[in-house]
Amino acid sequence: CGIVGIVGARPVSERLVDALKRLEYRGYDSAGVATIHDGQLDRRRAEGKLFNLETKLAGDPLPGLIGIAHTRWATHGAPTENNAHPHFTDGVAVVHNGIIENFSEIKDALIAEGATFSTQTDTEVVAQLLAKLRRDGLDGRQAMQAMLRSVTGAYALAVLFADTPGTILAARSGPPLAVGYGAQEMFLGSDAIALAPFTNEITYLNDGDWAVLTAGGVEILDHDGNSVTRPRQVSIAAA
Ligand code: GLU
Repeated sequence: CGIVGIVGARPVSERLVDALKRLEYRGYDSAGVATIHDGQLDRRRAEGKLFNLETKLAGDPLPGLIGIAHTRWATHGAPTENNAHPHFTDGVAVVHNGIIENFSEIKDALIAEGATFSTQTDTEVVAQLLAKLRRDGLDGRQAMQAMLRSVTGAYALAVLFADTPGTILAARSGPPLAVGYGAQEMFLGSDAIALAPFTNEITYLNDGDWAVLTAGGVEILDHDGNSVTRPRQVSIAAA
């Protein structure tokens, strides 16, 4: 399973799928990609091999200069297209590797407030909780910070908000997550191998870190929301 993201100046969906292929060695049962174009979130998802996702994209291309993508190894909910990531709720898109341990408590609380869930995954609580926090008036960064205070478990996460079409938010607690530096582009990936075609300059997030990626760079924050500096290193992964 794996996560990739690109925010930049050129179309992303084909490059995202190429990067996912480099994470195939980790195993997966379904895959998906989301972008923002024309001010809206859009996505393609498919069960099974990445070839199925590529076939969908060939027949129905996904434009956009920002996107996130995912290969899923199902832990909660069958490996169907409907349970495949990215999950969408109300202008929020989420991809997640890992397990949200307290998802059922959060889900029950959101349902009690009127939320309607459309998948069987633990991950959907992240999208639904972010959407609720945005409706409560928090901006994307504030919502991300508040969500991260509420969830427990192991996660690598990437998030898009339709109303901030130049920003990817990411977080790590457990599974590795790396940021890659390009020319007027920034990348996100589960490892340096995924990012090797794009860049060999990377920074690994520490456990508990989260990050705000734009085309111009990255800001990394700790669990308390303080800006932190993590070492930028040259990857030796082969492109
Ligand atoms: N727990 C999530 C799910 O079942 C993510 C699984 C993964 O790591 O791909 O959808």
